[in-house]
Amino acid sequence: MAQISALPKHFLSDKVEHFTESVIREMTRQAMQYGAVNLAQGFPDFSAPEEIKRAAQEAIAADINQYAITWGAKSLRNAIAQKMQEWQGIEVDPEREVVVCCGSTEAMIATLLAVCNKGDEVVVFEPFYENYGPDSILSGARPRFVSLRPPASARDEWTFDAQELREAFQPQTKAIIVNTPNNPTGKVFTRKELELIRDLCVEYNVLAITDEIYEHILYDGTEHISIARLDGMKERTITINGLSKSYSVTGWRVGWAVAPAAITNAIRKVHDFLTVGAPAPLQEAGAAALNLPASYYRELAERYRTRRDHLIPALEKAGFRCYPPRGAYYVMTDISAFGYASDMEFAAYLVKDIGIACVPGSSFYKHPRDGAQQVRFAFCKKPETIDEAARRLEKLSRLSRYR
Ligand code: GLN
Repeated sequence: MAQISALPKHFLSDKVEHFTESVIREMTRQAMQYGAVNLAQGFPDFSAPEEIKRAAQEAIAADINQYAITWGAKSLRNAIAQKMQEWQGIEVDPEREVVVCCGSTEAMIATLLAVCNKGDEVVVFEPFYENYGPDSILSGARPRFVSLRPPASARDEWTFDAQELREAFQPQTKAIIVNTPNNPTGKVFTRKELELIRDLCVEYNVLAITDEIYEHILYDGTEHISIARLDGMKERTITINGLSKSYSVTGWRVGWAVAPAAITNAIRKVHDFLTVGAPAPLQEAGAAALNLPASYYRELAERYRTRRDHLIPALEKAGFRCYPPRGAYYVMTDISAFGYASDMEFAAYLVKDIGIACVPGSSFYKHPRDGAQQVRFAFCKKPETIDEAARRLEKLSRLSRYR
């Protein structure tokens, strides 16, 4: 049998040459291989809420086991519209402005496939969640990156330069991807920053594609603002969200896009031919999830705050410089104190010798050198998991002292 690497190049599409497999998912495989504590991929290792598990079981028992309407079960679309109205004051027509997809991952790529033409550009803040690069490439567009600069101290925030952002907007710019709260930095974009983005989108006639999957995971009194809520933005915004992070069900693969009717129609067409539909019984359970009381979200955020405040001191003690997040459940760190030439080398050492999986920083940058002294840790884990990581980190501080 021929090895995959020996296949003639003409069997492969040119597109796949331009990106690699996900490093985040690869680190999870390595964590399993080495029996490491997995602080790499962002998925909870604790139970999902009982009420929504029950709703899923009941939906299966009630035989909701065939295709849902391709663009989403009515109960879930209604719940999405109602929740956006209640939480963000955004009026959404569940019949014409919502597409339910297989996770926000599919919602993002279906959106880009629906709006991009060859030669279009998509503005992406960097460091970025690694899917956005391949998503843009697969949709024929070119990503153009704008730097988020690390905070100078724990009290400061990740920032961007307004002029650099303005310069990224070009005649060929089709869209900007905004992910707030942000993965991997934990930045929560302020109203002022979003207004600046809004002004540029209006001036250059550009779409905003906003990934709001971490909307309820907020710390230190920060507020989540959907960009669609700003004047002039509803008609040019695609808001992407899903069940995974708010309800701790990353394996259910239920997400959605909310957009003006004409854009929704285009996304629905792409989605239909990509996947037909998201899992029907889990969409019913999704409707139950979106109806959870406000106290549920407060408790979720508070639980993650305690995890953040548990992991960061352990990392700092071991020698990492941490950039404390204001939202989402990741902490970016600087690893210069350990004296490694690259993040990949350091992450390999950490997973094999120390028994902790993280994500090498370079996977969040276009040029690997920009992330060569950073790694990301996820803290959406049980307290025991973080305790175990903290114990293993002690070994790192002892070892690194003798390096
Ligand atoms: N968002 C998660 C992360 O950044 C993983 C998502 C995924 O692997 N699909 O780790």
